[in-house]
Amino acid sequence: QLRIRNLKKIYGENQVLRGLNLDIQAGEKIAIIGPSGSGKSTLLRILMTLEAPNGGEVFLEGESVWTMTDGANEQKASEAHLHRMRAKLGMVFQHFFLFPHLSVQQNLTLAPMLVNHVSPSEAQERAMELLAMVGMDEKADAYPAQLSGGQKQRVAIARAMAMQPEIMLFDEVTSALDPELVHEVLSVLRKLAAKSDMTMLLVTHEMNFAREIADRILFFDGGVILEEGPPSQIFTAPQEARTQEFLKTVL
Ligand code: ATP
Ligand code: MG
Repeated sequence: QLRIRNLKKIYGENQVLRGLNLDIQAGEKIAIIGPSGSGKSTLLRILMTLEAPNGGEVFLEGESVWTMTDGANEQKASEAHLHRMRAKLGMVFQHFFLFPHLSVQQNLTLAPMLVNHVSPSEAQERAMELLAMVGMDEKADAYPAQLSGGQKQRVAIARAMAMQPEIMLFDEVTSALDPELVHEVLSVLRKLAAKSDMTMLLVTHEMNFAREIADRILFFDGGVILEEGPPSQIFTAPQEARTQEFLKTVL
């Protein structure tokens, strides 16, 4: 479903992605772990087309999202094509980025109505289903400022789902939360992982959670995937010294 080849990203002197290769099958649940600055968020932003790589290729269902010749800073694909690719993806960030002037329900209905031309009644119906799924249906008329961090994040997850993406990207969605609010967001993610056939890519520092829900763990270090495998292998018998070292600091 996703094919990433020799992906490179450079900020000034700082080579953040150094020729990353990755294949992701439809429905896979993948957890990305690794030290700060290893390029985890950068990869997700490039997949979401929020940022362009400096080299390499990304294909989504066989269609090009990015095709960069080394050193180029533009690709040939049209804005319309990128837009169509982007519509297959949803992303949730560490800081929720809800629209503060819109109610919870309006946060979920805006993009489907505006971008996908879904009718208001259909958008509302779908919004309420999603809010029920994340346990936020009673807060449909509340505004973001009236919610706790965990509640905001659950709304942000529901909002991304409202666009019916095929692939969801989660970038440390619990790391800005107070510890007692983490579990409510993780349990929503668990539920999503268990009952949907959506592809999920999660950057997380919650190792127990990663172990529990992921089919595959990717260990990022220095802008490449240094090691990957099923949780049972990565967490109990990591091959690389760097992986062992990292796990010692976080487990
Ligand atoms: P963390 O675990 O701290 O979130 P990460 O693995 O997500 O780390 P990235 O955010 O992908 O790391 O950043 C990788 C490197 O790229 C870092 O050294 C960072 O300082 C740098 N970087 C990220 N975004 C930019 C930017 N817009 N401009 C310049 N440098 C950037
Ligand atoms: Mg990051």
